[in-house]
Amino acid sequence: MIDMAEFVGVVFSGLSALVIEDARDAGEVILVRARTRSGTVACPGCGAETSRVHGYHERTAADVPVDGRRVLVKVRVRRMRCPALNCKVQTFREQVSGVLERYQRRISRLTAQVSAVARELAGRASARLLPALGTGVSRHTALRVLLKIPLPEVAVPRVLGIDLSGVPSRPSVTSASVARGAVSARRRVVIRRPTATSVTSA
Ligand SMILES: [Zn+2]
Repeated sequence: MIDMAEFVGVVFSGLSALVIEDARDAGEVILVRARTRSGTVACPGCGAETSRVHGYHERTAADVPVDGRRVLVKVRVRRMRCPALNCKVQTFREQVSGVLERYQRRISRLTAQVSAVARELAGRASARLLPALGTGVSRHTALRVLLKIPLPEVAVPRVLGIDLSGVPSRPSVTSASVARGAVSARRRVVIRRPTATSVTSA
């Protein structure tokens, strides 16, 4: 016989930072109810640990599909009270870092999936494919996700060459003035002085 609690823990292992209280079939969606774990939380203002609960909030977020159906997770999170009397943060909402980030309406692993599809297919094609995978995302949402993907680091050239072969040799166009106007202080500049025979490329 399958232990249902264990089975739910396996299916929703990505939510292990939370306590899953219930998972039920709600027709087109699977509804999961969860809460944050009890324990102390550090105040974001002063760092003091606190377990004093001021109140509760419910956050709703979409998770990766199960059984080809959308999954909605309703998470009860606590609003904590800082114990320090002189702290400017009196109460604060606890965060579930790595699972449900601040202000997000999607569980982090679903965001990662949508980002991967959007990166490969961009907005319109993503919006057509994702519903077939059990993730309903509009074209605008896919584009927003795409725009949030950080661009890869592009190496800045350490040496910048400036070809002055076409610049007439006038006193007003000096090496120093070109260097000041064209490049930042962080880049080394190699300036080729015009000569009668120089043919260079950048
Ligand atoms: Zn505090």
